[in-house]
Amino acid sequence: MGAPTLPGAPVLLDPAGLDALIAALAARGFSVIGPTLREGAIVYDRISGIGALPAGWTDRQEAGRYRLERRADAALFGYAVGPQSWKRFLHPPEERLWRARRTEDGFTIETEPPPVERFAFLGMRACELHAVAIQDRVFLGGTHQDPGYAARRAGAFLVAVNCGTAGGTCFCVSMGTGPRAESGFDLALTELIGPDRHEFLTVAGSAEGAALLATLPSRPAGAEAEAAAASVMARTEAGMGRTLERAGLKEALQASPEHPHWDDVAARCLACANCTMVCPTCFCTSVSDHTDLAGTEAARVKRWDSCFTAEFSFIHGGPVRPHRSARYRQWLTHKLAHWVDQFGSSGCVGCGRCITWCPVGIDITAEAAAIRAAPDAKPEQEGHGNP
Ligand code: SF4
Ligand code: SF4
Repeated sequence: MGAPTLPGAPVLLDPAGLDALIAALAARGFSVIGPTLREGAIVYDRISGIGALPAGWTDRQEAGRYRLERRADAALFGYAVGPQSWKRFLHPPEERLWRARRTEDGFTIETEPPPVERFAFLGMRACELHAVAIQDRVFLGGTHQDPGYAARRAGAFLVAVNCGTAGGTCFCVSMGTGPRAESGFDLALTELIGPDRHEFLTVAGSAEGAALLATLPSRPAGAEAEAAAASVMARTEAGMGRTLERAGLKEALQASPEHPHWDDVAARCLACANCTMVCPTCFCTSVSDHTDLAGTEAARVKRWDSCFTAEFSFIHGGPVRPHRSARYRQWLTHKLAHWVDQFGSSGCVGCGRCITWCPVGIDITAEAAAIRAAPDAKPEQEGHGNP
């Protein structure tokens, strides 16, 4: 992302001002989506005020482990990221593409009308803004655009929150994607909290954001508040849980299709596809056709799919990638190497979700480092051992 162009000077909102922001977005017709607690996790869902935010909660994340804990304060955004990303709203897990109905003289096809719901996303992290920018390139940047994604994306209002807490599996600093939101948002907040303060340093990143901000109760942010926000960012950067060394990684991965480490990962991998479901940039889908029992109506449905399933690469006679080693290799090398050739950036933004939510704790930073440390370690061989 380039240098930011931010209309207007930073201002301070207090919690009542943040509540007013949510109300103002709802009054403008947006469905406001923000973080909230559900079933032991912080998820993104519809909210109608700051009362729904996870006040005083934080997340502890490690490979294969996620737990919520109480904070010593009442921070509203005092966690890293949860299992969901915003892709479930812009690129939903299931979407009907068209319907067909039997008629007396044949059948008619009804294409799906473009979605009309306009989302306001509250609490987007810097890495998540980068993930949306990546999905923009995937869905909108080529010859064929995804009409559903295009409609949802065009109507969205993005409110970023700079990270005040680094997650145990995060590595956005080494990916150049965080923890500060630099562009791609309408508004960006930094939560400032202490014994005698709870407020949000707020900047606008678009004309629409500036216009909305001007309607909210706020006060100018002085140099002290800006210095406090800078120190929040410095603390988060210093607390980052992991790193991924990117120099030479693409070349090392592309030179190592037969590396023995792929079999090492496959011996641990369950091919459960969790990593691709939680990843904010993974975009693969498959389509299936359904008819009703009466045979009068049929529909084609698009659903999230994963390169970790055998069915995903099934071509008549069998899957192209029958072994887990080949599926993990496909995922990792696409994400960190071929994606650069295809879309001009890495496919990973360092959010750490695939590490946290892998049931056996497979860690993309460790697996990439193992390949990078000794690329192309053995000559081409026949197949891989783990089905
Ligand atoms: S590959 Fe893992 S760390 Fe990278 S963006 Fe996807 S889920 Fe996040
Ligand atoms: S790497 Fe982990 S999350 Fe991904 S498919 Fe394998 S076991 Fe599941």
